[in-house]
Amino acid sequence: MAADLDEFIDQLALVDHHVHGAFRDDGAESRFQNSLNEGNSESLIDPSTGYNSQLAFALRRWCAPLLDLPVHVAAQDYWRRRSEIGEAEIARRMLTHAGVSEWLVDTGFRTDDFLSPAEMARLSGGSAREIVRVETVAEQLITTIGNPNDYADAFRNLLSERTVDAIGTKSVIAYRAGFDLDLSRPSDTEVATAAAHWCDEQSAGGTARLADPTLLRFGLHAAVDLGLPLQLHVGLGDRDLDLRAVNPLHLIEFLRAHEETGVPILLLHCYPYEREAGYLAQAFETVHMDVGLAVNHLGVQSIPLIARSLELAPFGKLLYASDAIGPAELHYLGAALWRRGMRETLGGWVDAGDWSAPDARRVVQMIGRDNARRVYRLG
Ligand SMILES: [Zn+2]
Repeated sequence: MAADLDEFIDQLALVDHHVHGAFRDDGAESRFQNSLNEGNSESLIDPSTGYNSQLAFALRRWCAPLLDLPVHVAAQDYWRRRSEIGEAEIARRMLTHAGVSEWLVDTGFRTDDFLSPAEMARLSGGSAREIVRVETVAEQLITTIGNPNDYADAFRNLLSERTVDAIGTKSVIAYRAGFDLDLSRPSDTEVATAAAHWCDEQSAGGTARLADPTLLRFGLHAAVDLGLPLQLHVGLGDRDLDLRAVNPLHLIEFLRAHEETGVPILLLHCYPYEREAGYLAQAFETVHMDVGLAVNHLGVQSIPLIARSLELAPFGKLLYASDAIGPAELHYLGAALWRRGMRETLGGWVDAGDWSAPDARRVVQMIGRDNARRVYRLG
């Protein structure tokens, strides 16, 4: 029975519902090493510390064979082989072996460094769709807008233009302001005042980075109004964000305000708040969640994380995501560790007689594939 379940889990074609592009060009070892650290976005003083982590150990365990190396090969030998092969061939191997049929790609961050959705599709043999980042649209608008009084309408128009071919939106308000603030819908007058202030800052030489709380929450509500599923960065991220302020329980009023619309809200990553997110997924019809990103960074400890994600959240509300970005090993590793965690967790429950094998298969398919296909209306 358990052997059948293992095979089912290993062969299921996944939807990776939150992911970024793999590196486009070859780079230095320090870039690779820095990519193994999520919390610190600065260049590490000693980048080799990245190799002494759960993520790096899991990477040498699972990815080495795809580079024709033995499992657990020394980090130095792994890097040597990696630099011989080159980023493009690594991406081809890793993306193909991930067994992902659909990549839902967030295109909002330093796009030139990473493969586009079309390139991800071509290299993997799967398909790819775009998720549009709300704050990036605002930052495009502010550099071209003539009159800040037009901001509210101009933003709504640009967002709907930019999402014509997209299947969802994403907000990084977690990074820019956190959730521990008033997230109610601002009036168009408040938006105009905030836009005028942002325009003034720019004329004074400020950057186009959106950090104004009024415009951030305006963007969130405008995204829900579009009707497309809205992804929210929650929990773990680099130290640009205040991890204390990104507990998803702060979102309760926002979730309440939009529950009637039925627009799906997807809480991304969630670690270390996966239990809070699971509660919200049970409490609100619209809330869905994943534990991506942390699955990679926790390495072998992703097994208990995956088990915790299967506590309160209804199984129809959980989705698979790698949240990989940069080294294509992360795109493969997310899938490999997720499959491993589901084999261990669900297989254990089936062996103990707590779950039936057909129930286990059904839940694997829901989380790995069917929930995302339903929520994003794929297919
Ligand atoms: Zn991400």
